[in-house]
Amino acid sequence: MIRARRARIVATLGPASRAPGMVKSLAEAGVDVFRLNFSHGSHDDHAAALKAVRGAEIALQRPLGVLADLQGPKLRLGRFANVEIDVKPGHKMRFDLDPTPGDATRVQMPHPEIFRALRTGMLLLLDDGRVRLRVGERTDEWADVTVESGSRLSDRKGVAVPEAVVPVSALTPKDREDLAFALRMGVDWVALSFVQKPEDMAELKSIVKGRAACLAKIEKPQALADLEAILDYCDGVMVARGDLGVEMEPEEVPVAQKRIIRAARQRGVPVIVATQMLESMTASPAPTRAEASDVANAVYEGADALMLSAETASGDYPLEAVGIMNRIMERVEADPLWPSLMDAEHAGMDDIDADALVAAARKAGEAQSTACIVIFTTLGGTARRMSRERPLQPMLALTPKPETARRLALVWGLEPRLGKEPASLEDVTDDAVNSAMQYGLAQPGQRVLILAGTPFGAPGAANLLRLAHAPMKKARKS
Ligand code: PGA
Ligand code: MN
Repeated sequence: MIRARRARIVATLGPASRAPGMVKSLAEAGVDVFRLNFSHGSHDDHAAALKAVRGAEIALQRPLGVLADLQGPKLRLGRFANVEIDVKPGHKMRFDLDPTPGDATRVQMPHPEIFRALRTGMLLLLDDGRVRLRVGERTDEWADVTVESGSRLSDRKGVAVPEAVVPVSALTPKDREDLAFALRMGVDWVALSFVQKPEDMAELKSIVKGRAACLAKIEKPQALADLEAILDYCDGVMVARGDLGVEMEPEEVPVAQKRIIRAARQRGVPVIVATQMLESMTASPAPTRAEASDVANAVYEGADALMLSAETASGDYPLEAVGIMNRIMERVEADPLWPSLMDAEHAGMDDIDADALVAAARKAGEAQSTACIVIFTTLGGTARRMSRERPLQPMLALTPKPETARRLALVWGLEPRLGKEPASLEDVTDDAVNSAMQYGLAQPGQRVLILAGTPFGAPGAANLLRLAHAPMKKARKS
């Protein structure tokens, strides 16, 4: 099964979707990568979901990626004696470290790091921004705050400190346990939430040690301010618009989205646009026209992948949401305006062999009878570089490693498939042409562009660009 579109779909699995039959139907409807959200669900739930994805992969004969999304250091308020309190603008209270259940005068904020980072006059956002507070007097153990807006505070609500980098560890003890579990299960991607600085991703990578690809969720203004340095440590990146929108004004979110996509595409780091893409479809079988437009715009921006969260995890219409997302994406990519809009700013070229090669392949691909590009790739590097060029021909990425194929399922335009390592130039040509014909990507007589690396069998950057033609009659192997 070859996708008719280049942009990819990530869908979150949850109670509404993790049954094996449903996972398979979602993959058939268009999901390329499944997200396991470790903010919800038990390890058993995630293990069952992963098993269902691996089953669907076999049934569909198509690599499917699995992304483990770690909760990250989300800061939270303590508890109240009566679960919640009413507040109004001007209300004054104290946050401290005392675990005694709170009331209208005080409540615990169990994070000494926050108190140390706070300064008088700073803003605090609670409950996804529903309550805004201003810091008054403070010490390293407590802070007096005044409510600026909002009407209610309740147990364990999230706390954001948009004006300071809070020196918390990038991974909580829960994250470390979840990560170890996810790696044992064999997930393909790991995403870290609430990344603040490059060191957060460096820490993740030092634990993961290449066992999965690592992705940063950009959902804090601090991360946006240090985007380029963070991208140095990223195999992928997510525009996490939900939490980004809590700490930034609404008008800043689309601007941030454009900026993150552009920076990621320049580097050839796959980028996911996430959250509320088809939000109304959690309770309705059809999207709003504004949502359809949001999905379309992300495709016009050339994002690698678009993500569904509650729509597929807990909504009433998971299959419909994927179906409609798929339809919108295919429609955009059929628009004659799409290639020029999508590639409005073409990625630059690094002065290395692989980039010289993929640039040449892209150019050669523009000739009309070029049917497809076949890339032999061991760890996926050459395939990702080719994708960065955003060629319009289908790209078949042949790899001997299942984990490479699954990671590449997230990347724009790549059709990853398992294939044996070529042993000779003749193998390269035969395997490429035969695979292209087998998957219906080349018709007899059409040109096939092939990228490979020599010496064969040794990992390393591609250094070979070869032209071949699909035979007029199916070649008979002697
Ligand atoms: P979440 O992350 O769904 O895990 O919160 C995505 C976002 O914040 O947009
Ligand atoms: Mn988030």
